[in-house]
Amino acid sequence: MAHLQRLLLLGGGHSHVEVIRRFGERPLREAAITLLSPERHTPYSGMLPGYIAGHYSYHDCHIDLEPLCSAAGIVFRRAEARGIQPEAGRVACSDGSLADYDVLSIDVGSTSDVHDMSGALEHGIRVKPVAAFLSAWEGIHAALRQGRQLSLVFVGGGAGAVELAAAMHHRLAKETSAGSARIAMLTDTASILPAHPARVQRIFERVLSGRGIKVHCNAKVVRVSPGRIECADGSSVDADHAIIATGAGAPAWVTASGLKADARGFIAVNAYLQSLSHPNVFAAGDVATMMDYPRPKMGVYAVRQGPILHRNLLHALRGESLRSYVPQRTALALISTGDKHAVASWNGIAFEGDWVWRWKNRIDCRFMATYRR
Ligand SMILES: Cc1cc2nc3c(=O)[nH]c(=O)nc-3n(C[C@H](O)[C@H](O)[C@H](O)COP(=O)(O)OP(=O)(O)OC[C@H]3O[C@@H](n4cnc5c(N)ncnc54)[C@H](O)[C@@H]3O)c2cc1C
Repeated sequence: MAHLQRLLLLGGGHSHVEVIRRFGERPLREAAITLLSPERHTPYSGMLPGYIAGHYSYHDCHIDLEPLCSAAGIVFRRAEARGIQPEAGRVACSDGSLADYDVLSIDVGSTSDVHDMSGALEHGIRVKPVAAFLSAWEGIHAALRQGRQLSLVFVGGGAGAVELAAAMHHRLAKETSAGSARIAMLTDTASILPAHPARVQRIFERVLSGRGIKVHCNAKVVRVSPGRIECADGSSVDADHAIIATGAGAPAWVTASGLKADARGFIAVNAYLQSLSHPNVFAAGDVATMMDYPRPKMGVYAVRQGPILHRNLLHALRGESLRSYVPQRTALALISTGDKHAVASWNGIAFEGDWVWRWKNRIDCRFMATYRR
């Protein structure tokens, strides 16, 4: 009997949910496919600020991987990858088990970047991984509702940080007594949202200051300790909770895997989304860097890579030639202000309105409906 090839999918990220959906449309007979994921429900980060703000339920912004896999004949295995042995074709899991593969595909996302920031892993609340962040948020939310007074300080000033800060403020203003939560933000850049046009920066400066969220720019955080955040210039800020919303960092176990990586530790892939060092390994989303076409770590790129990844995994399993892919140069960002209002930022252009939020809501809900089984 012919050997059934083993395709192992690590992580149910934005690219893999599309790979799984497509395998569901046309099930593959010549391979046994397994998905490894630590969680049954994978978050859709575009809707996370809306979840924090109270506009969405948990299930509105999470994809249930189990029925998606089951509809595609894919084995769903709840386990967390901890190491890859590419020479042996094997993945080590946190429960001590091993998973063997002929072809491996990695879409495990990123973690909040804490390099050069001591104590952040132990004393900070990282926005990524999302599951741990949401359980920390539930604790904070419950404590504030019980009348505690807490200071919440964001480390980071990008889109994720400003959206989450605005969303928390919106929720807490409705559900807790005035002044119980003090929210502030520290960023090492000269202004918030440095990757966006000046108009977007001004809008969010207005939004945050209007809500009493104090922003400290040029504040490079070097240490997080219980109750305190210290900056490189010697200044410090008191914080009951340091919320680490820095940019994307590579998971340490991925960097240590022996797969060729870029300078920041992300898996280096070619235009086929194939590892530069191991041709039977593919990677997409935040965890991968297309060396010829580097792009910001954003969900929109991970989503666009899904169909390409599916096709190339299929071709790799069949021994057929792979197809190359050039990602789009720019991406539309729809950044919400917490109160069903949003700002669009695209290619130097910016506009805002309640209608922008409704537009974003339609896009997000349509995306989620695609993966509901
Ligand atoms: C608050 C916030 C809002 C954002 N909003 C937007 C937005 O509006 N638009 C946009 O383009 N980008 C946005 N981003 C960025 C976006 O979150 C990422 O770029 C996107 O999630 C990357 O997708 P991914 O497929 O690489 O991985 P992810 O979506 O992060 O998925 C990774 C999956 O892998 C699983 N996993 C993790 N570790 C392991 C392991 N060891 N073993 C097995 N499985 C594992 C996880 O459980 C998860 O299911 C936002 C980020 C944040 C923090």
